[in-house]
Amino acid sequence: MNTNNPVIETKSLSHSYNSYHALDNLDLQVYEREIFGFLGHNGAGKTTTINILTTLMQPSSGTAMVAGYDTVKQSMQVRQQIGYLPENVTFYNNLTAFENLSFFARLSGVDNVVKRIEEVLDFLEFRGIEHKKLGEFSKGMRQRIGIAQAIMHEPKILFLDEPTSGLDPLGIKKLREIIIRLNKEKHLTIFMNTHLLSEVAKTCTSIGVLNHGKLIYKDTLDNTLRRFPSEVSLEEIYVQMEIKSTS
Ligand code: ATP
Repeated sequence: MNTNNPVIETKSLSHSYNSYHALDNLDLQVYEREIFGFLGHNGAGKTTTINILTTLMQPSSGTAMVAGYDTVKQSMQVRQQIGYLPENVTFYNNLTAFENLSFFARLSGVDNVVKRIEEVLDFLEFRGIEHKKLGEFSKGMRQRIGIAQAIMHEPKILFLDEPTSGLDPLGIKKLREIIIRLNKEKHLTIFMNTHLLSEVAKTCTSIGVLNHGKLIYKDTLDNTLRRFPSEVSLEEIYVQMEIKSTS
């Protein structure tokens, strides 16, 4: 049992697109300094959840608190406390990495923009590319610039939507190392939507499983691996949960 206060807490959070119930009474807590992996099949409602938590969408009903603020009533305060890397991050391809980061940093009201960009790129071990145009970057490099942008204003919580999607194994490994360092060294709480169970096992400290808009499982990774001792892999655990919840 975690005695900290949750930094993300939803109560009866629901969302419908017309008559389709994408999220159904989600009660979820994520605690400070966790790396939370949010798993679920295609269309389970993971992006809908992240869009509500990052204030991009309002829920049909229920509430979501992020860093102590209500995502609907206090959306500006929430935005100051969070960084977000969407699945398909968009940049100005004909501007350099530095110009892109500088543009977004100024929009977020970051002080000493040049110094802060240097600090962030140093942390991400990504110096020397500042003056290349984004259009020349690989998917992995774009993801790293996306993370740089997301942490520029020193948020407390970082949201990542399918961060490893489309990356090669080396890109996945580098991104995993960055996520773990952000958590351990910068003390960020991380909320990560993912399909990749192998990534959850290597990166996350706790997991939740969403199935057709309902949370069907949530626990720490350690407890999960203890609870299913006969299972050979996290993948089998997940498949069993999915089968149970749909049968
Ligand atoms: P994926 O892993 O494929 O990205 P997801 O778990 O992120 O899926 P969501 O994108 O949240 O799922 O979508 C949940 C459900 O809501 C899906 O059935 C999807 O088709 C539907 N949906 C999402 N956005 C809209 C929209 N703007 N209008 C109508 N239906 C939508």
